Amino acid sequence: MISIDKSIITAVSAKEKIDPEKLLRSIQGGNAVILGRDDYARIAIGKALRTKVNVNLGTSPLKSDEDEEMEKAAVAFRCGGDTVSDCSTAGDIDGLRRKLISSSGMPVTTVPIYQAVVTAESFESTTDEHILKVIEKHVKDGVSSIVIHTGFTRGTLLHLKQSGRIMGVVSKGGSMTAAISLCQERENPFVSLFDSIVELLKETGVVLNLGNAMRSGCVHDLKDEPQLQEIYTNAKLAKRANNRGVQVIIEGLGGHVNARDLKAWIEEHNRITGNRPLFVAGPLPTEIGVGHDHISAAIGGAMAAGYGADYLCAITPAEHLGLPNVNQVREGVIAAKIAAHVGDSMKYGIDACFDEDRQLSSWRAKKDWVKQFEHAIDPETAKSIHPGEEKECSMCGKYCAIAIMRKYGLDSKFES
Ligand code: SF4
Repeated sequence: MISIDKSIITAVSAKEKIDPEKLLRSIQGGNAVILGRDDYARIAIGKALRTKVNVNLGTSPLKSDEDEEMEKAAVAFRCGGDTVSDCSTAGDIDGLRRKLISSSGMPVTTVPIYQAVVTAESFESTTDEHILKVIEKHVKDGVSSIVIHTGFTRGTLLHLKQSGRIMGVVSKGGSMTAAISLCQERENPFVSLFDSIVELLKETGVVLNLGNAMRSGCVHDLKDEPQLQEIYTNAKLAKRANNRGVQVIIEGLGGHVNARDLKAWIEEHNRITGNRPLFVAGPLPTEIGVGHDHISAAIGGAMAAGYGADYLCAITPAEHLGLPNVNQVREGVIAAKIAAHVGDSMKYGIDACFDEDRQLSSWRAKKDWVKQFEHAIDPETAKSIHPGEEKECSMCGKYCAIAIMRKYGLDSKFES
């Protein structure tokens, strides 16, 4: 049974505007989690809650600048990112993780297999003991959740070989885990480590993220046996971890899913997993937006959230091309926030959701740009286009439709 301190439930339910009893029942039923180990950063993710946005950052072997990664975290926080994932694979990995935990203002997730492989220096020498030690260190440092790719076996990898996919495996953590299994001619290390990891997380409040190694990497890689196997296995493991008091998020349908299949796919995923919190990266419904993948991902993310995903991952314009810079992270977070907002309006209805759209419209009808910007997701960019002092905007000038209708008494009577 999952047990959460009553004061935490009270504080988080107030923040999430949900009845505390309902939130507790949802967490105990495995349909929501509380993420965050510090009071200021705690949030809830899952069914009947606002869709949340995660922001990936971290160093790579080709670009490793700790200060820039911290700047990305600060921008992500300012733009409304809910959580941050440290995906570092180079430089001072321990140092950056600790800084993010102490000063990003958001719950921090890690993928410990990255650091395990980096520090073991090869897939051949990455042992179970070493992986477990890295996880222990991350938990001790104060991470809020960890990702493990435990939903596939060697058998799944054989199916993958026969699947005829264009893109194969596109999950970094999933490919590392698969490589350990293949080169050491052994089972996925997380299969044997799973119970020890659950034991380690018990009573720490650290959420277990069951990763999505078998996700499709392009819209033409359709639902196949490896993906289904992983979802069924993750669903079983989520139940096992929940029964031992550990909260679980399931990653699914990340990557790329064609738009026509998205609704059915999300509903099937939620049915198989018993409506456990669903995290999606993207999903991108097209490949041709490369260079603008934050837009493709926002379209897919809005649809996914609207059909029942609970947690989106911000995708930047640099996706598939390089490590994003600070401005690209900013664009990605804003796009994902808009996607989450649209998804919530589909899930819960525009009135049940937020009043921001209504407020913004009413100030727009009054041609009050300064007040409009107060309700905008990105006031900075809006202000850079229209400074707000003029009553006119240059789109129509004296032929402004709002002004013309006002002159003839057909202006808005809507009160903000
Ligand atoms: S000038 Fe045109 S675009 Fe600008 S507020 Fe009026 S109607 Fe809208």
